[in-house]
Amino acid sequence: SASNPVVLYWHRTDLRLHDSPALHAALALKPSVFIPVWTWDPHYVYKARVGPNRWKFLLECQSELSKGYKSLNPKQKLWVVREGPQTILPKLWKHWGVTHLVFEKDTDAYAKDRDTAIVALAEKAGVEVIVRMGRTLFDPDELVYKNNGKPTMSITQVEKAAVKINNGNPDKPLDPPESIPDPWGEKQMDLTSLDHDSVDNKPDLNAEHRTKKDEQYSNLMGPKNDFAVPWDDIGIDLSQAATPHRGGEAEALRILAECIENEEYVAQFEKPKTSPAAFEPQSTTLLSPHLHFGSLSVRKFWWDVQDVFNKQRKGKKPVASVPTNLHGQLLFRDMYFAAQAPIGHRFARSHGNEVARFIDWHLQSNPPDEDGSVDGSYEVDSQEAEEWFQRWKEGRTGFPWIDALMRQLRQEGWIHHLGRHSVACFLTRGGCYVSWERGAEVFEELLIDRMLSSMWNFPALTHNVLDETACNIGNWQWLSCTAFYAMFYRCYSPIAFGKKWDPEGNLIRRYCPELAKFDKKHIYEPWKAPIADQKKWGCRVTGDGTPTSDSDDTENTYPKPMFDFDERRQICLDGMKHAYDVGLHGSDAKVKDGTWKTE
Ligand code: FAD
Repeated sequence: SASNPVVLYWHRTDLRLHDSPALHAALALKPSVFIPVWTWDPHYVYKARVGPNRWKFLLECQSELSKGYKSLNPKQKLWVVREGPQTILPKLWKHWGVTHLVFEKDTDAYAKDRDTAIVALAEKAGVEVIVRMGRTLFDPDELVYKNNGKPTMSITQVEKAAVKINNGNPDKPLDPPESIPDPWGEKQMDLTSLDHDSVDNKPDLNAEHRTKKDEQYSNLMGPKNDFAVPWDDIGIDLSQAATPHRGGEAEALRILAECIENEEYVAQFEKPKTSPAAFEPQSTTLLSPHLHFGSLSVRKFWWDVQDVFNKQRKGKKPVASVPTNLHGQLLFRDMYFAAQAPIGHRFARSHGNEVARFIDWHLQSNPPDEDGSVDGSYEVDSQEAEEWFQRWKEGRTGFPWIDALMRQLRQEGWIHHLGRHSVACFLTRGGCYVSWERGAEVFEELLIDRMLSSMWNFPALTHNVLDETACNIGNWQWLSCTAFYAMFYRCYSPIAFGKKWDPEGNLIRRYCPELAKFDKKHIYEPWKAPIADQKKWGCRVTGDGTPTSDSDDTENTYPKPMFDFDERRQICLDGMKHAYDVGLHGSDAKVKDGTWKTE
């Protein structure tokens, strides 16, 4: 009954206890029973591109959160269930007599669809739903509303809209709870007897495997299983997770505190002055994955930075400004969320996306079918470009700066912003002239394990990027001058840009160890080193970097550059000029009013 609320708290993008408006609202109901759950959404498990690095990070976030709950109430933990939310939640409502469902608002296209369905189901079941914003500084829908109903395409638009919301100030962070109510008793919390569906839309596992797994997982939802993760089922081997970056609320708060303590760093932070070649420690905060999983509140980040600014200003010290300072960085994140929110699923593609410029890339995604569905296929009008794309993806372009960054991304799931600039510009308008959509997909998925694909008969998708979809897509549009940014004549050299930051080539030496012994004169252009030196330094520059290339087994090799950069640069520039001359949506009536017309 309403006087004894039984509250189901659904964790998704908020794996934290501090500053969670939704959790706050849930606890304000004074629940007699409180159950915080995580559902292993089959969409997330099977359809999103989740690889070992991301899994590991996510698990660390969950396990921290569970510990956090336990420390406030020994009877509590994060209750993990393995089934799609659309089917499991209604069963849980019934089984536990839930009166309220509470969760953090998510404006991602997929999440919106899912949540609309859940809210409708809850209404039918008489469960009250409470939703609170907390993932971004400002509610993306509200930013859009204050931006005249349009997607936010610049920081200035975000700032202007934010001023109309609360004079530009995000809400102050809320304290973490001091206590957590009990769940139901042990018997009622045990779901083993509950009839549960097998995971929806699961890729077709071979029958023998399926039977074995079904046995093994039939008991997944019982309280004995803290983190029921279908590891084997999805063929992901956690030992492959090479990322040194650790998840969890405690780690996030530790990193933030360490940053904030260094007041000079916070006050003087200017993004363009941070080095993409720095590692151990890196030159920026590396808090993006924590913001993604919600192990850190972005509002806390903002206000902790504001405290430093206030102190400095009292001492009359200059403070870096928006958009290059840390507040500016967080506003970029909000900008991409509020750019995506009104565009939805179409934001991730060129086709039918009113803000995306049409550029006639060598590799272009195919337009949607008549019913609007997208099969994700690509038109390949240049086999050469397809080959360049593969080499870029695998970190064997023959340009060491690019390859080092791509390998760092693959191994660790994070690279510096200006490193992303380099590789994204190189793939699109500054080298390969390949569609940004393909690059964005690689940032989300890196095909690294052949065993996976043969085993499961579906593409082996391993997500290494620990960041956000809206930000990923938006930044790819920015770098390719498809949207947000238009200065296409400003291009990153795969040689000079890295050299400027890292004349010794330390980043290359680390991630392309075969080049470790090259002298600094040749490390960015190893193909120019005399053969005798290549031999002396133990690595010959030859072939295309595939393991079968023309080298004997005992010799280290590094590929030759896959093209003449200056030549490619000019071809790209001409293409971009043309694209800008013909207008936002192309010349030959392919696109009108933001709507694609298939010929
Ligand atoms: P810091 O410099 O310490 O900035 C603090 C926070 O501000 C970040 O954690 C992040 O949340 C936010 N931020 C900073 N820059 C940006 C930006 N340009 N766009 C959006 N948010 C920003 N960022 C993602 O969060 N997810 C992505 O998937 C992603 N993909 C990218 C793809 C490309 C091609 C490019 C060029 C950039 C991408 N970025 C993405 C933006 C940016 O590179 C990362 O947010 C940043 O490097 C994360 O490192 P950090 O936490 O040390 O950042």
